Amino acid sequence: MARTNLGRTPLLTTRRDFLAMSAGLAALSALPAASSAQSVKTNARILILGAGAAGTALANRLSETLDGARITILDPRMQHYYQPGFTLIAAGLKPADYSVSATADWLPRTIDWVPEAAAEIDPDARRVVTTGGTAIAYDYLVVATGLKLDFDAIEGMSLDLVGSNGIGAVYAGPEHAARTWEEMDRFTDKGGVALFTRPATEMKCAGAPLKYTFLTDDYARKKGTRSKAELVYAAHNDTFFSVPIVDEKVRMLFEDRGVASVRNHVMTAIDPGRKIATFQTPEGSKEIGYDFTNVIPPMRAPDVIRDSPLSWKTGKWVSEGWVEVDKHSLRHLRYPEVFAVGDVAGVPKGKTAASVKWQVPVVEAQLTAQIAGRESQARYDGYTSCPLITRIGRAMLVEFDYDNNLTPSFPGIIAPLEELWISWLMKEIALKATYNAMLRGRA
Ligand SMILES: Cc1cc2nc3c(=O)[nH]c(=O)nc-3n(C[C@H](O)[C@H](O)[C@H](O)COP(=O)(O)OP(=O)(O)OC[C@H]3O[C@@H](n4cnc5c(N)ncnc54)[C@H](O)[C@@H]3O)c2cc1C
Repeated sequence: MARTNLGRTPLLTTRRDFLAMSAGLAALSALPAASSAQSVKTNARILILGAGAAGTALANRLSETLDGARITILDPRMQHYYQPGFTLIAAGLKPADYSVSATADWLPRTIDWVPEAAAEIDPDARRVVTTGGTAIAYDYLVVATGLKLDFDAIEGMSLDLVGSNGIGAVYAGPEHAARTWEEMDRFTDKGGVALFTRPATEMKCAGAPLKYTFLTDDYARKKGTRSKAELVYAAHNDTFFSVPIVDEKVRMLFEDRGVASVRNHVMTAIDPGRKIATFQTPEGSKEIGYDFTNVIPPMRAPDVIRDSPLSWKTGKWVSEGWVEVDKHSLRHLRYPEVFAVGDVAGVPKGKTAASVKWQVPVVEAQLTAQIAGRESQARYDGYTSCPLITRIGRAMLVEFDYDNNLTPSFPGIIAPLEELWISWLMKEIALKATYNAMLRGRA
């Protein structure tokens, strides 16, 4: 894979930078102890579906808090993916294996890992059937399956195309992110039209499509080809970001960087031969030609969740199939012994790893209290965080809650809407360490 040194981290420039970095990293390393939940003796059977960020973090915490519980985790994937790293891989700053580790290395030895997927969920019988046909009974179920990237919903799109014909797909996985970098590298050598989109469904890390637009702009500038490149961002609705003040900031940055935009454009098809993408718009179907594009498909709950009794049966999420939970306790609204955590939870915000960090202790506290016959006051407030990269070496650390309040973790040190080197370091260096600590149940 071609690598670049364009993104080498800048040196400390000012005393202010140094103080900000020290304070930020010190605050990050002051992680809470493994669990504040009271230890409970129980022989309850707990089944966790998915050993990604949320399932693994919860398994580690519950194995410490619950004394005697029989915890089983289902996940067929042998590899764990650190997904926030995909953007760095697709920017040529990290190799594909930067995001890959072994699932087994993160799971506590005291639990049972069944390397199969959940194929059928019967919450009335409190039973899950695996793809291998084994029925597993539970007393408590935690759904942590993440989401499904529905590339099939984009006509003409195939993951085999990524890395050729100007097609990238940062979300698809570490190898696809690396191939996306090769295409972006080629594009920024030559110029042409780069087309960026996002789906109309809920999505994980809604800042990632914007980050990649800014990164492409920055590479073209660094290579001296920006005048030959036209960048177009197609927003799925009237906004670039769901939080109004961040939306306005992105609008200003696009204006400043010369990124053109269209609104209410949802990609429905791609023609790799003609290099044309088709969009659904309020005025009907429209086509936009491209030389490079980062295809981000609609996102939904995995079929086994969507087709189960656990998904929302009314309201705006019926077709996307997210799990019907209370947005504060993350407990199922119809099956009180069921919880959902991470991307699959049907809550208005929170599809980031940073949200997982705050959701997992809530589920741990709620579940533990329920087993002990107590009530828990633990609540998830929608905390979502996005280190929005605006160029190599600069990012805005945007943090917010359900009410779109900005909730900065380092007030007075890291201003959320400023393009800062310290915020870039959070993404490039500190985030992975914090993520790993979270997986171990220590953050
Ligand atoms: C390009 C990109 C950039 C991102 N950037 C950031 C960022 O900067 N900051 C941030 O905080 N977050 C970021 N994220 C989002 C973050 O990675 C996710 O929100 C987080 O991984 C969600 O964790 P999860 O456990 O819900 O899902 P995952 O980590 O995806 O894990 C889900 C697990 O469930 C398993 N599974 C699926 N179906 C089944 C089944 N039927 N049975 C059993 N197991 C199943 C899967 O194999 C997988 O291991 C980014 C994501 C991407 C793709």
